[in-house]
Amino acid sequence: YTPLAEADPEIQALVDRETYRQFRGLELIASENLTSLAVMQANGSVFTNKYSEGLPGARYYGGNEVVDELEVLCQNRALEAFHLDGAKWGVNVQPYSGSTANFAAFTALIQPQDRIMGLNLADGGHLTHGAYTRKRKISASSIYFQPLPYQVDHSTGIIDYDALEKNAILFKPRILICGASAYPRDWDYARLRKIADINGSYLMMDMAHISGLVAAQVQNDPFEHCDVVCTTTHKTLRGPRAGLIFFRKDKEADLEKRINDAVFPACQGGPHNNTIAAVAVALKQAATPEFKEYSTQIIKNTRTIAEELVKHDYKLQTEGSDNHLVLWDLRPLGLTGSKIEKLCDLAEITLNKNSVPGDKSAATPGGVRIGSNALTSRSMKEDEMRQVADFLHRAVQIALAAQKEAGSKLIKDFERVLKGDGEAAKQLKQL
Ligand code: PLP
Repeated sequence: YTPLAEADPEIQALVDRETYRQFRGLELIASENLTSLAVMQANGSVFTNKYSEGLPGARYYGGNEVVDELEVLCQNRALEAFHLDGAKWGVNVQPYSGSTANFAAFTALIQPQDRIMGLNLADGGHLTHGAYTRKRKISASSIYFQPLPYQVDHSTGIIDYDALEKNAILFKPRILICGASAYPRDWDYARLRKIADINGSYLMMDMAHISGLVAAQVQNDPFEHCDVVCTTTHKTLRGPRAGLIFFRKDKEADLEKRINDAVFPACQGGPHNNTIAAVAVALKQAATPEFKEYSTQIIKNTRTIAEELVKHDYKLQTEGSDNHLVLWDLRPLGLTGSKIEKLCDLAEITLNKNSVPGDKSAATPGGVRIGSNALTSRSMKEDEMRQVADFLHRAVQIALAAQKEAGSKLIKDFERVLKGDGEAAKQLKQL
Protein backbone atom coordinates (compact mmCIF):
# COMPACT_ATOMS: atom_id res chain seq x y z
CA TYR A 1 0.00 0.00 0.00
CA THR A 2 2.79 2.42 -0.88
CA PRO A 3 1.11 5.53 -2.32
CA LEU A 4 1.56 6.29 -6.01
CA ALA A 5 3.74 9.35 -5.43
CA GLU A 6 6.28 7.14 -3.66
CA ALA A 7 5.86 3.93 -5.69
CA ASP A 8 6.00 5.62 -9.10
CA PRO A 9 6.78 9.35 -9.05
CA GLU A 10 6.94 9.42 -12.85
CA ILE A 11 3.29 8.39 -13.20
CA GLN A 12 2.29 10.63 -10.27
CA ALA A 13 3.87 13.56 -12.09
CA LEU A 14 1.82 12.78 -15.20
CA VAL A 15 -1.35 12.56 -13.09
CA ASP A 16 -0.54 15.93 -11.57
CA ARG A 17 0.13 17.52 -14.95
CA GLU A 18 -3.10 16.13 -16.40
CA THR A 19 -5.08 17.34 -13.35
CA TYR A 20 -3.62 20.80 -13.86
CA ARG A 21 -4.39 20.70 -17.60
CA GLN A 22 -8.02 19.66 -17.05
CA PHE A 23 -8.78 22.36 -14.49
CA ARG A 24 -6.59 25.22 -15.70
CA GLY A 25 -7.93 25.15 -19.27
CA LEU A 26 -11.42 25.34 -20.69
CA GLU A 27 -12.67 21.86 -21.48
CA LEU A 28 -15.14 22.00 -24.35
CA ILE A 29 -15.00 18.45 -25.66
CA ALA A 30 -18.61 17.30 -25.88
CA SER A 31 -17.80 13.65 -25.17
CA GLU A 32 -15.90 14.32 -21.94
CA ASN A 33 -16.77 15.49 -18.48
CA LEU A 34 -15.20 16.15 -15.08
CA THR A 35 -16.42 13.34 -12.92
CA SER A 36 -16.79 13.55 -9.14
CA LEU A 37 -14.19 12.58 -6.57
CA ALA A 38 -16.53 9.83 -5.31
CA VAL A 39 -16.70 8.30 -8.81
CA MET A 40 -12.90 8.40 -9.11
CA GLN A 41 -12.45 6.82 -5.67
CA ALA A 42 -14.78 3.94 -6.53
CA ASN A 43 -12.95 3.57 -9.85
CA GLY A 44 -9.63 3.29 -8.03
CA SER A 45 -10.93 0.82 -5.41
CA VAL A 46 -10.07 -2.81 -4.57
CA PHE A 47 -12.88 -3.97 -6.86
CA THR A 48 -10.23 -3.82 -9.58
CA ASN A 49 -8.69 -6.98 -8.07
CA LYS A 50 -11.69 -9.23 -8.56
CA TYR A 51 -12.67 -11.65 -11.33
CA SER A 52 -16.42 -12.25 -11.67
CA GLU A 53 -17.24 -13.72 -15.08
CA GLY A 54 -20.96 -14.39 -15.28
CA LEU A 55 -23.87 -12.60 -13.65
CA PRO A 56 -24.87 -11.99 -10.02
CA GLY A 57 -25.60 -15.37 -8.41
CA ALA A 58 -24.11 -17.32 -11.36
CA ARG A 59 -20.36 -16.70 -11.51
CA TYR A 60 -17.43 -18.72 -12.76
CA TYR A 61 -15.29 -17.64 -9.77
CA GLY A 62 -15.64 -17.85 -5.99
CA GLY A 63 -15.53 -14.90 -3.63
CA ASN A 64 -18.17 -12.86 -5.41
CA GLU A 65 -20.67 -12.25 -2.62
CA VAL A 66 -19.74 -8.55 -2.40
CA VAL A 67 -19.43 -8.09 -6.16
CA ASP A 68 -22.87 -9.68 -6.62
CA GLU A 69 -24.37 -7.07 -4.32
CA LEU A 70 -22.49 -4.32 -6.15
CA GLU A 71 -23.68 -5.37 -9.61
CA VAL A 72 -27.33 -5.73 -8.54
CA LEU A 73 -27.17 -2.31 -6.87
CA CYS A 74 -25.72 -0.83 -10.06
CA GLN A 75 -28.48 -2.44 -12.16
CA ASN A 76 -31.19 -1.10 -9.83
CA ARG A 77 -29.68 2.37 -9.86
CA ALA A 78 -29.49 2.31 -13.66
CA LEU A 79 -33.21 1.50 -13.91
CA GLU A 80 -34.02 4.15 -11.33
CA ALA A 81 -31.87 6.85 -12.93
CA PHE A 82 -33.70 6.36 -16.25
CA HIS A 83 -37.15 6.04 -14.62
CA LEU A 84 -37.66 2.48 -15.83
CA ASP A 85 -39.99 -0.21 -14.58
CA GLY A 86 -37.94 -3.33 -13.77
CA ALA A 87 -40.79 -5.52 -15.01
CA LYS A 88 -40.47 -4.04 -18.52
CA TRP A 89 -36.77 -3.20 -18.80
CA GLY A 90 -33.54 -4.89 -17.84
CA VAL A 91 -29.96 -3.68 -18.02
CA ASN A 92 -26.51 -5.15 -18.42
CA VAL A 93 -23.93 -2.99 -16.63
CA GLN A 94 -20.82 -4.91 -17.69
CA PRO A 95 -19.84 -3.35 -21.09
CA TYR A 96 -16.33 -1.91 -20.96
CA SER A 97 -17.25 0.99 -23.23
CA GLY A 98 -19.84 2.40 -25.61
CA SER A 99 -18.29 0.62 -28.59
CA THR A 100 -18.38 -2.79 -26.94
CA ALA A 101 -21.93 -2.15 -25.72
CA ASN A 102 -23.04 -1.46 -29.30
CA PHE A 103 -21.26 -4.48 -30.72
CA ALA A 104 -22.71 -6.73 -28.00
CA ALA A 105 -26.19 -5.37 -28.80
CA PHE A 106 -25.71 -6.20 -32.51
CA THR A 107 -24.41 -9.66 -31.57
CA ALA A 108 -27.55 -10.25 -29.50
CA LEU A 109 -30.05 -8.92 -32.03
CA ILE A 110 -28.87 -10.02 -35.47
CA GLN A 111 -26.71 -12.42 -37.48
CA PRO A 112 -23.41 -11.67 -39.27
CA GLN A 113 -24.01 -9.86 -42.59
CA ASP A 114 -27.49 -8.71 -41.57
CA ARG A 115 -28.36 -5.12 -42.51
CA ILE A 116 -28.17 -2.09 -40.26
CA MET A 117 -28.95 1.59 -40.80
CA GLY A 118 -27.36 4.35 -38.73
CA LEU A 119 -26.60 8.05 -39.15
CA ASN A 120 -23.80 8.74 -41.62
CA LEU A 121 -20.42 9.32 -39.92
CA ALA A 122 -19.85 12.63 -41.72
CA ASP A 123 -23.34 13.78 -40.65
CA GLY A 124 -22.62 13.20 -36.96
CA GLY A 125 -23.07 9.42 -36.63
CA HIS A 126 -20.68 7.23 -34.65
CA LEU A 127 -18.10 4.81 -36.07
CA THR A 128 -19.88 1.84 -34.49
CA HIS A 129 -23.13 2.53 -36.36
CA GLY A 130 -21.81 0.96 -39.57
CA ALA A 131 -19.16 3.46 -40.66
CA TYR A 132 -17.18 2.86 -43.83
CA THR A 133 -15.39 4.95 -46.41
CA ARG A 134 -15.07 4.46 -50.15
CA LYS A 135 -11.70 2.83 -49.55
CA ARG A 136 -12.40 0.57 -46.57
CA LYS A 137 -14.68 -0.72 -43.88
CA ILE A 138 -13.46 1.18 -40.86
CA SER A 139 -15.56 -0.34 -38.10
CA ALA A 140 -16.37 -3.89 -37.00
CA SER A 141 -19.98 -2.81 -37.47
CA SER A 142 -19.35 -2.51 -41.23
CA ILE A 143 -16.98 -5.49 -41.42
CA TYR A 144 -19.47 -7.93 -39.89
CA PHE A 145 -22.77 -6.30 -40.92
CA GLN A 146 -24.05 -4.57 -44.05
CA PRO A 147 -24.67 -0.89 -43.39
CA LEU A 148 -26.61 1.74 -45.28
CA PRO A 149 -26.23 5.17 -43.68
CA TYR A 150 -28.98 7.75 -43.53
CA GLN A 151 -28.26 11.47 -43.74
CA VAL A 152 -29.21 14.88 -42.49
CA ASP A 153 -30.87 17.28 -44.89
CA HIS A 154 -27.89 19.42 -45.92
CA SER A 155 -29.99 22.57 -46.19
CA THR A 156 -31.24 22.38 -42.58
CA GLY A 157 -28.78 20.03 -40.85
CA ILE A 158 -31.77 18.07 -39.45
CA ILE A 159 -32.19 14.31 -40.01
CA ASP A 160 -34.03 13.75 -43.27
CA TYR A 161 -36.69 11.40 -41.90
CA ASP A 162 -38.54 11.20 -45.25
CA ALA A 163 -35.46 10.03 -47.14
CA LEU A 164 -34.63 7.69 -44.25
CA GLU A 165 -38.10 6.14 -44.52
CA LYS A 166 -37.84 5.67 -48.30
CA ASN A 167 -34.43 4.02 -48.00
CA ALA A 168 -35.47 1.85 -45.06
CA ILE A 169 -38.42 0.52 -47.09
CA LEU A 170 -35.99 -0.53 -49.83
CA PHE A 171 -33.05 -1.67 -47.67
CA LYS A 172 -35.05 -3.44 -44.94
CA PRO A 173 -32.50 -3.13 -42.14
CA ARG A 174 -32.72 -5.59 -39.25
CA ILE A 175 -31.73 -2.77 -36.89
CA LEU A 176 -32.49 0.92 -37.25
CA ILE A 177 -29.98 2.78 -35.08
CA CYS A 178 -30.48 6.28 -33.78
CA GLY A 179 -28.11 8.37 -31.70
CA ALA A 180 -25.03 10.34 -32.71
CA SER A 181 -21.71 11.85 -31.72
CA ALA A 182 -22.21 15.25 -33.30
CA TYR A 183 -25.90 16.03 -33.73
CA PRO A 184 -27.15 19.14 -31.94
CA ARG A 185 -30.88 18.33 -32.08
CA ASP A 186 -33.23 15.93 -30.34
CA TRP A 187 -34.61 12.74 -31.92
CA ASP A 188 -38.11 11.96 -33.19
CA TYR A 189 -38.44 8.48 -31.68
CA ALA A 190 -42.13 8.12 -32.56
CA ARG A 191 -41.32 8.65 -36.25
CA LEU A 192 -38.33 6.28 -36.06
CA ARG A 193 -40.53 3.62 -34.42
CA LYS A 194 -43.02 3.88 -37.28
CA ILE A 195 -40.22 3.50 -39.82
CA ALA A 196 -38.74 0.52 -37.94
CA ASP A 197 -42.16 -1.13 -37.79
CA ILE A 198 -42.58 -1.06 -41.59
CA ASN A 199 -40.01 -3.86 -41.83
CA GLY A 200 -40.22 -5.26 -38.32
CA SER A 201 -36.75 -3.83 -37.59
CA TYR A 202 -35.38 -3.41 -34.10
CA LEU A 203 -35.09 0.22 -33.03
CA MET A 204 -31.88 0.79 -31.11
CA MET A 205 -30.87 4.10 -29.56
CA ASP A 206 -27.24 4.84 -28.75
CA MET A 207 -27.78 7.72 -26.32
CA ALA A 208 -24.08 7.92 -25.37
CA HIS A 209 -23.82 11.68 -25.74
CA ILE A 210 -27.12 12.68 -24.23
CA SER A 211 -27.71 10.02 -21.56
CA GLY A 212 -27.28 12.48 -18.69
CA LEU A 213 -29.86 14.73 -20.32
CA VAL A 214 -32.21 11.77 -20.82
CA ALA A 215 -31.83 10.75 -17.16
CA ALA A 216 -32.66 14.33 -16.18
CA GLN A 217 -35.69 14.24 -18.51
CA VAL A 218 -34.60 17.33 -20.44
CA GLN A 219 -34.58 15.44 -23.77
CA ASN A 220 -37.18 13.20 -25.42
CA ASP A 221 -37.38 9.75 -23.86
CA PRO A 222 -35.94 6.99 -26.09
CA PHE A 223 -37.32 4.30 -23.78
CA GLU A 224 -40.88 5.07 -24.89
CA HIS A 225 -40.21 3.71 -28.37
CA CYS A 226 -36.93 1.77 -28.60
CA ASP A 227 -36.26 -1.93 -28.07
CA VAL A 228 -32.66 -1.55 -26.95
CA VAL A 229 -30.89 1.53 -25.58
CA CYS A 230 -27.10 1.61 -25.28
CA THR A 231 -24.99 4.29 -23.70
CA THR A 232 -21.57 5.27 -22.53
CA THR A 233 -21.43 6.50 -18.94
CA HIS A 234 -18.75 9.19 -19.18
CA LYS A 235 -20.22 11.98 -21.29
CA THR A 236 -23.21 14.00 -20.02
CA LEU A 237 -23.89 11.21 -17.48
CA ARG A 238 -20.58 12.16 -15.80
CA GLY A 239 -19.48 8.71 -14.70
CA PRO A 240 -16.36 6.62 -15.38
CA ARG A 241 -15.55 5.27 -18.86
CA ALA A 242 -17.94 2.36 -19.45
CA GLY A 243 -21.12 1.28 -21.24
CA LEU A 244 -24.64 0.08 -20.42
CA ILE A 245 -27.18 -1.87 -22.46
CA PHE A 246 -30.87 -1.52 -21.61
CA PHE A 247 -33.27 -4.01 -23.20
CA ARG A 248 -37.01 -4.45 -23.21
CA LYS A 249 -38.01 -7.53 -21.31
CA ASP A 250 -41.61 -7.52 -22.50
CA LYS A 251 -40.93 -7.67 -26.26
CA GLU A 252 -39.21 -11.02 -26.79
CA ALA A 253 -38.97 -13.57 -24.01
CA ASP A 254 -35.32 -14.42 -24.69
CA LEU A 255 -33.94 -10.90 -25.32
CA GLU A 256 -32.55 -10.65 -21.79
CA LYS A 257 -30.59 -13.89 -22.20
CA ARG A 258 -29.37 -12.93 -25.68
CA ILE A 259 -28.07 -9.54 -24.48
CA ASN A 260 -26.41 -11.03 -21.40
CA ASP A 261 -24.79 -13.85 -23.41
CA ALA A 262 -23.62 -11.37 -26.03
CA VAL A 263 -21.79 -9.29 -23.42
CA PHE A 264 -20.26 -12.37 -21.79
CA PRO A 265 -18.98 -14.73 -23.12
CA ALA A 266 -19.48 -13.54 -26.73
CA CYS A 267 -17.80 -10.12 -26.65
CA GLN A 268 -16.12 -9.68 -23.27
CA GLY A 269 -14.41 -11.50 -20.43
CA GLY A 270 -14.52 -10.58 -16.75
CA PRO A 271 -16.41 -7.41 -15.78
CA HIS A 272 -14.38 -4.43 -14.56
CA ASN A 273 -15.90 -4.30 -11.10
CA ASN A 274 -14.11 -1.11 -10.08
CA THR A 275 -15.76 0.59 -13.06
CA ILE A 276 -19.15 -0.89 -12.19
CA ALA A 277 -18.75 0.53 -8.67
CA ALA A 278 -17.97 3.95 -10.15
CA VAL A 279 -20.93 3.70 -12.58
CA ALA A 280 -23.18 2.93 -9.61
CA VAL A 281 -21.95 6.09 -7.84
CA ALA A 282 -22.57 8.20 -10.96
CA LEU A 283 -26.06 6.75 -11.40
CA LYS A 284 -26.97 7.60 -7.81
CA GLN A 285 -25.85 11.18 -8.49
CA ALA A 286 -27.78 11.25 -11.78
CA ALA A 287 -31.03 10.55 -9.90
CA THR A 288 -30.74 13.70 -7.74
CA PRO A 289 -32.44 17.10 -8.14
CA GLU A 290 -28.93 18.63 -8.37
CA PHE A 291 -28.24 16.57 -11.48
CA LYS A 292 -31.49 17.75 -13.06
CA GLU A 293 -30.41 21.31 -12.33
CA TYR A 294 -27.00 20.56 -13.84
CA SER A 295 -28.57 19.14 -17.01
CA THR A 296 -30.99 22.04 -17.36
CA GLN A 297 -28.01 24.38 -17.06
CA ILE A 298 -26.09 22.44 -19.75
CA ILE A 299 -28.88 23.20 -22.20
CA LYS A 300 -29.02 26.88 -21.22
CA ASN A 301 -25.24 27.12 -21.50
CA THR A 302 -25.09 25.50 -24.94
CA ARG A 303 -27.87 27.78 -26.17
CA THR A 304 -25.97 30.80 -24.90
CA ILE A 305 -22.79 29.78 -26.76
CA ALA A 306 -24.85 29.15 -29.92
CA GLU A 307 -26.67 32.50 -29.69
CA GLU A 308 -23.43 34.40 -29.16
CA LEU A 309 -21.77 32.74 -32.17
CA VAL A 310 -24.83 33.36 -34.34
CA LYS A 311 -24.70 37.06 -33.35
CA HIS A 312 -21.32 37.17 -35.10
CA ASP A 313 -22.96 35.59 -38.18
CA TYR A 314 -21.07 32.34 -37.82
CA LYS A 315 -22.63 29.25 -39.35
CA LEU A 316 -23.79 26.57 -36.92
CA GLN A 317 -25.21 23.26 -38.04
CA THR A 318 -29.01 23.54 -37.57
CA GLU A 319 -28.40 27.16 -36.45
CA GLY A 320 -28.48 26.19 -32.80
CA SER A 321 -28.76 23.33 -30.35
CA ASP A 322 -31.26 21.38 -28.22
CA ASN A 323 -28.62 19.57 -26.22
CA HIS A 324 -25.05 19.86 -24.90
CA LEU A 325 -23.22 20.54 -28.16
CA VAL A 326 -22.82 22.99 -30.97
CA LEU A 327 -21.36 22.05 -34.33
CA TRP A 328 -19.64 25.04 -35.88
CA ASP A 329 -19.16 25.03 -39.63
CA LEU A 330 -15.93 26.96 -40.34
CA ARG A 331 -15.92 26.46 -44.09
CA PRO A 332 -17.55 29.81 -44.94
CA LEU A 333 -14.57 31.46 -43.18
CA GLY A 334 -12.05 29.48 -45.22
CA LEU A 335 -10.77 27.73 -42.07
CA THR A 336 -10.58 24.05 -41.14
CA GLY A 337 -11.46 22.38 -37.86
CA SER A 338 -7.84 21.22 -37.46
CA LYS A 339 -6.56 24.81 -37.43
CA ILE A 340 -9.03 25.99 -34.80
CA GLU A 341 -8.36 22.90 -32.68
CA LYS A 342 -4.61 23.58 -32.87
CA LEU A 343 -4.94 27.28 -32.11
CA CYS A 344 -7.32 26.66 -29.19
CA ASP A 345 -4.92 24.04 -27.77
CA LEU A 346 -2.23 26.71 -27.68
CA ALA A 347 -4.67 28.92 -25.71
CA GLU A 348 -5.63 26.08 -23.32
CA ILE A 349 -9.11 25.77 -24.77
CA THR A 350 -9.81 22.13 -25.58
CA LEU A 351 -12.26 21.27 -28.34
CA ASN A 352 -12.19 18.94 -31.29
CA LYS A 353 -12.22 19.17 -35.06
CA ASN A 354 -15.31 17.54 -36.48
CA SER A 355 -16.68 16.89 -39.91
CA VAL A 356 -19.74 18.88 -40.87
CA PRO A 357 -22.40 17.67 -43.32
CA GLY A 358 -21.18 18.01 -46.88
CA ASP A 359 -17.46 17.76 -46.06
CA LYS A 360 -15.52 16.38 -49.00
CA SER A 361 -13.00 14.50 -46.85
CA ALA A 362 -13.06 13.21 -43.29
CA ALA A 363 -9.30 13.90 -43.18
CA THR A 364 -9.82 17.67 -43.23
CA PRO A 365 -13.01 18.27 -41.29
CA GLY A 366 -14.62 21.65 -41.86
CA GLY A 367 -15.89 22.26 -38.37
CA VAL A 368 -15.41 22.00 -34.64
CA ARG A 369 -17.62 20.45 -31.97
CA ILE A 370 -18.13 22.39 -28.77
CA GLY A 371 -19.74 20.93 -25.65
CA SER A 372 -20.77 22.78 -22.50
CA ASN A 373 -21.05 19.74 -20.21
CA ALA A 374 -17.61 19.85 -18.56
CA LEU A 375 -17.68 23.59 -17.92
CA THR A 376 -21.19 23.27 -16.51
CA SER A 377 -19.75 20.69 -14.07
CA ARG A 378 -17.48 23.53 -12.93
CA SER A 379 -20.63 25.52 -12.04
CA MET A 380 -20.28 27.90 -14.97
CA LYS A 381 -23.44 29.60 -16.18
CA GLU A 382 -24.61 31.87 -19.00
CA ASP A 383 -22.26 34.76 -18.14
CA GLU A 384 -19.20 32.54 -18.37
CA MET A 385 -20.54 31.03 -21.61
CA ARG A 386 -20.74 34.49 -23.14
CA GLN A 387 -17.07 34.86 -22.26
CA VAL A 388 -16.28 31.45 -23.74
CA ALA A 389 -18.05 32.42 -26.96
CA ASP A 390 -16.02 35.62 -27.01
CA PHE A 391 -12.78 33.60 -26.65
CA LEU A 392 -13.89 31.42 -29.56
CA HIS A 393 -14.72 34.48 -31.66
CA ARG A 394 -11.27 35.91 -30.92
CA ALA A 395 -9.65 32.55 -31.72
CA VAL A 396 -11.25 32.54 -35.15
CA GLN A 397 -10.18 36.13 -35.84
CA ILE A 398 -6.60 35.23 -34.83
CA ALA A 399 -6.75 32.16 -37.08
CA LEU A 400 -7.81 34.32 -40.02
CA ALA A 401 -4.97 36.75 -39.33
CA ALA A 402 -2.46 33.89 -38.98
CA GLN A 403 -3.60 32.34 -42.24
CA LYS A 404 -3.13 35.68 -43.97
CA GLU A 405 0.28 36.19 -42.38
CA ALA A 406 1.36 32.67 -43.42
CA GLY A 407 0.35 33.43 -47.01
CA SER A 408 -0.64 29.76 -47.32
CA LYS A 409 -3.42 27.43 -46.23
CA LEU A 410 -1.04 24.71 -45.06
CA ILE A 411 -1.34 23.85 -41.38
CA LYS A 412 2.44 23.71 -40.94
CA ASP A 413 2.74 27.34 -42.06
CA PHE A 414 -0.19 28.26 -39.84
CA GLU A 415 1.50 26.68 -36.80
CA ARG A 416 4.80 28.35 -37.63
CA VAL A 417 3.11 31.75 -37.61
CA LEU A 418 1.30 31.04 -34.32
CA LYS A 419 4.57 30.06 -32.67
CA GLY A 420 6.48 33.00 -34.18
CA ASP A 421 6.59 36.64 -33.11
CA GLY A 422 4.16 38.29 -35.55
CA GLU A 423 0.86 40.03 -34.77
CA ALA A 424 -1.27 36.83 -34.76
CA ALA A 425 1.13 35.16 -32.30
CA LYS A 426 1.00 38.25 -30.06
CA GLN A 427 -2.82 38.21 -30.05
CA LEU A 428 -2.80 34.49 -29.28
CA LYS A 429 -0.65 35.09 -26.18
CA GLN A 430 -3.30 37.49 -24.93
CA LEU A 431 -6.15 35.05 -25.48
N1 PLP B 1 -21.55 5.84 -29.25
C1 PLP B 1 -21.50 7.16 -29.43
C2 PLP B 1 -22.71 7.88 -29.96
C3 PLP B 1 -20.33 7.86 -29.14
O1 PLP B 1 -20.27 9.18 -29.36
C4 PLP B 1 -19.21 7.15 -28.65
C5 PLP B 1 -17.94 7.83 -28.31
O2 PLP B 1 -17.65 8.93 -28.52
C6 PLP B 1 -19.31 5.77 -28.50
C7 PLP B 1 -20.49 5.15 -28.80
C8 PLP B 1 -18.12 4.94 -28.11
O3 PLP B 1 -17.84 4.98 -26.79
P1 PLP B 1 -16.43 4.44 -26.24
O4 PLP B 1 -15.40 5.42 -26.64
O5 PLP B 1 -16.68 4.34 -24.77
O6 PLP B 1 -16.22 3.09 -26.84
